[in-house]
Amino acid sequence: MEKQLEKLALDGGKPARSKPLPPNYPGAVVMGEEEAAYAERVIRAQSPFRFYGANPLGAVDALEERMMQDLGVPYALGVTSCTAALVVALKALGIGYGDKVIVPAVTFLATPGAVVCANAVPVFADVDESLNLDPSALERVIDDEVKAIITVPILGNPCDMDPILAVARKHGIPVIEDVAQSLGTSYRGKPAGTLGELGVYSFQMNKILTAGEGGAVVTRDAKLYERAARYHDQGLVRPQLKERFGLQPNEETDAFVGQNYRMSEVTGAILVEQWNKLEGLIAAMKSSHRKLKRQLEERLPGIVFRSSPDEDGDIGSNLGLLLPTAEAAGRFMQAMAAENITAHTLYGGRPVYMVPQLFHQRTAEKDSFPFNAPFKNPIRYTEDMCPRAVDLIPRMVFVPISPLLTDEDLEEVTEGIVKVYRSLRLA
Ligand SMILES: *Cc1c(COP(=O)(O)O)cnc(C)c1O
Repeated sequence: MEKQLEKLALDGGKPARSKPLPPNYPGAVVMGEEEAAYAERVIRAQSPFRFYGANPLGAVDALEERMMQDLGVPYALGVTSCTAALVVALKALGIGYGDKVIVPAVTFLATPGAVVCANAVPVFADVDESLNLDPSALERVIDDEVKAIITVPILGNPCDMDPILAVARKHGIPVIEDVAQSLGTSYRGKPAGTLGELGVYSFQMNKILTAGEGGAVVTRDAKLYERAARYHDQGLVRPQLKERFGLQPNEETDAFVGQNYRMSEVTGAILVEQWNKLEGLIAAMKSSHRKLKRQLEERLPGIVFRSSPDEDGDIGSNLGLLLPTAEAAGRFMQAMAAENITAHTLYGGRPVYMVPQLFHQRTAEKDSFPFNAPFKNPIRYTEDMCPRAVDLIPRMVFVPISPLLTDEDLEEVTEGIVKVYRSLRLA
C-alpha cells in the first residue's frame, strides 16, 4: 500500500525539503584552489595576454590542447564568449549579408543574435519532443538562400544529428553546433560540437564549466580554423598559431578584416582547471539524473519525460518533464516552489522568435539591416510558424540536477515531485 497522500506545502503541508536546493552552476560550485592557483600564476607572471608579455604561460593554448584531445578534434580556438564563437564560426564559413541561417525555435537569444551580428538573418525551424531541432522540420524552411544550420542541444540533451546531417549534406549546407549549454553531451558516442563543420561552447556562469565569461570554437577543417583564428584576432593569424598548426596563408590574398574576440590568459587558466573537473561533474549529474528518473518512473507510471535521440548522451544537468498542458505546468511549478524544489520552463515559455526585437526584426542598424537584404523569399515571422515549439515550451518543465546533490536530496526531490503529481493528478 502507498502511504497516505501528503498535503502540499502550498496548502500548508510540510515541504518536501526544508531548504532550497544548491544553485545549479556546475562549474562555479566546484571552483576553488586549483583555479585560484593557476590564475595567480598568470597574474604573478604579469602576463595576462596570450600572445606576448613578460612571460606568457600558455594557459589559453593549454585549454585549446585539452579540448582538442578530449573532444578528438585537430583545432580549437578560445574566444571571449559563445556569442563571439557563433559569430566567428559564421564568418569562418563566409556567411554574411544576404544569407539565411536556420536556427531552432527553442534556443537562447544569443543564437539568432549572433546570426544578425554576422549580417545574416535567422530562419526558424520547429522542434520535436526532445525540445531540440526536429530533423523533419528542416526541409520546410530550406531554400537556396539558406547558408548554414545551427543546431542547439538544449540543457544537456543531444540533437538527433544523423538525420540533421543527412538533410544538411543533401543540400550542401554546413552545420554549426551551438553546444553552449551542453559541454560533455554526446550523440552515438561522439562529443556534441564535433559532428558538424564547427562546434561552439560557452564558459559563461550559467553553463557547465565557467570562468564567468568565455567561449570556444572547434573544427576539423584547417581552412575553417584559419578563418576563425583570423576573424577573432583583427584579421591576423599570429605566427604562434601558424607554427603550431602548420598554417601557411597568403596574406596578400587570404586576409580579411576581423574583430577582437581573443581569450585572456586569466580566463584560460581558470578554464584549464575547470576542464580537469568536467568528467567528475558529468558523472555526478548523470548518476543523479538516472536515479531520479528511475525512481519517478517506478512511482508515477503515467509520467512523461522529455524525449531524447540518445539517452546515454544526456549529461543529466536537468530532468525535463512534459506536463499535459501549460496550465498544469504552471500549477506544478508553483506547488514545487512551495516544496523548496526548483522547477522552471525555458525562455518565458515562448519560442525565441517571439521576443519583440526578433519578431519585429528590429536591429541597432538603419532600415532593419540586415533583414532588408533583397531576399528572393522574404523573411516573415508569424507567432505560429513553429507550432510544436509553441505547444511544448510552456509545458516542458525542467528540474535542475546539481552535481552536488546527495542521495538524501534526491530522495526529497523524488518525494516532492511524486506528491505534487499525485495531488494535482498530473500522471
Ligand atoms: C548561453 C548561450 C549562448 C551564449 O553564450 P555566451 O557565452 O553567454 O555568449 C549561446 N547559445 C546558447 C544556446 C546559450 O545557452
